[in-house]
Amino acid sequence: MSISKISVVVVGAGPAGFYAADALIKKKLNCEIDIIDFLPTPYGLIRAGVAPDHQTTKKVIKSFEKTALNDSCHFFGNVHIGNEISISELKEIYDAIIIATGAESDSLLDIPGSSLPGVIGSASFVGWYNAHPNYINLNPNLETNNVIIIGNGNVAIDIARVLVKNRNEMAESDIPEYALSNIENSSIKDVFIFGRRGPIEAKFTNVELREMGELKDAVAIVRPDQLPLEVGSLSDAREQRLKEKNLKTLQEFSKNKITDARKRVHFPFWYKPVKILGTQKVEGIQMEKTFLNNGILESTGEYLEIECGLVIPAIGYRSRPVKGLPFNDTDFVISNDNGRVDMGIYAVGWIKRGPSGVISTNRPDGVLAANHIENDFRDGGSKPGRTALVSMLEKKNIKFVSFEGWKLIDKAEISGAISGAPRKKFEKIDDMLDVVFYK
Ligand code: NAP
Repeated sequence: MSISKISVVVVGAGPAGFYAADALIKKKLNCEIDIIDFLPTPYGLIRAGVAPDHQTTKKVIKSFEKTALNDSCHFFGNVHIGNEISISELKEIYDAIIIATGAESDSLLDIPGSSLPGVIGSASFVGWYNAHPNYINLNPNLETNNVIIIGNGNVAIDIARVLVKNRNEMAESDIPEYALSNIENSSIKDVFIFGRRGPIEAKFTNVELREMGELKDAVAIVRPDQLPLEVGSLSDAREQRLKEKNLKTLQEFSKNKITDARKRVHFPFWYKPVKILGTQKVEGIQMEKTFLNNGILESTGEYLEIECGLVIPAIGYRSRPVKGLPFNDTDFVISNDNGRVDMGIYAVGWIKRGPSGVISTNRPDGVLAANHIENDFRDGGSKPGRTALVSMLEKKNIKFVSFEGWKLIDKAEISGAISGAPRKKFEKIDDMLDVVFYK
């Protein structure tokens, strides 16, 4: 006996949302899956978070496209859940809601001066060089010799790399021209990636760290006296291998001289930020030397000050609450029990478990949500889903972008690309909507 259709809506068209849709399709349940995003474009952080020169990483969208083109799936872009349509309205029309809104904001750097102009969180900065419509007008001050990046994660590495690569090195990327020319014409000479802990504790992955040794105009600088001779023994064998590789890479970098290139990326370890200096805008930063005492970070009272016009805290992302759903203010995730928020409501990805891991780390969350839905709707669903959504959108006069609409945007971006770039991204939502509705 076939069960009645289960109507599912996925809020957020990033990797976590697509993995959840894919997991549902693979289960061959009788589902109708609508994927909603506030942007007219799908793919979330793949499009606006993964660095523009990491095009290979972006290839995962090919498999997400297959999911989107599955008969049971539909994309609704340019629809803002929370502003235009509430969660309670979605509850009325869908059997199951999967929240996949990611982590769009920055963790706060809570030190004096951190709200001065010239302090720009990594989420905004990465959005700026990726042409995310919310950040195109960020206008960061690149008229500075020194840029300070706080944090020892892959986002810090991405930002440093994009800031020192030259136009040729970015030729096959999809960085927008405004960001590329601002970087090219900037006075940046020294980028400092500060870690509050040491080289073994740093969260960089090795491929990303090694890339810092392959730059045309910049050299990676590490003080040899900051590197231990060996990693020591860790309980996790995979971690052990990663840390050993990182140490080896850093040891290679420590042989470099500051005169080896026009620009430098420094890796000072064991410094935590204590104060941003300046009155009207950032003029410098004060850092304090640290050490680990039985695993606890302690300060030495020894300070270092560096002049700079730009400070980028890359200290992790934070999810925003979704209106109408419980939020855990300590961990900055939707309150959930193994992905279950409430009957018929599930969370996946960074909003479920916090901002960590690589793209495919989101896949098991999708499988978990699909398992919950399979168990919760053994007798099928009862709510109208897509037809009710479309009439709600029409009633509210919301211009939604279908997957076919996104493909028009995609095609226009690809055909606008110049000299080796994969695409020329639209920067404004209105320009994307023009392509869909008026061309
Ligand atoms: P992350 O890996 O969590 O790194 C955050 C860094 O900020 C850590 O070094 C942390 O130090 C430091 N930090 C946190 N609070 C701080 C504070 N108050 N003061 C000074 N330092 C502070 O975060 P992320 O770099 O944003 O990356 C997020 C996730 O995306 C990660 O899983 C990352 O691997 C992934 N990602 C992957 C790629 C890639 O694969 N190419 C690219 C980008 C991002 P402690 O360790 O001491 O807390």
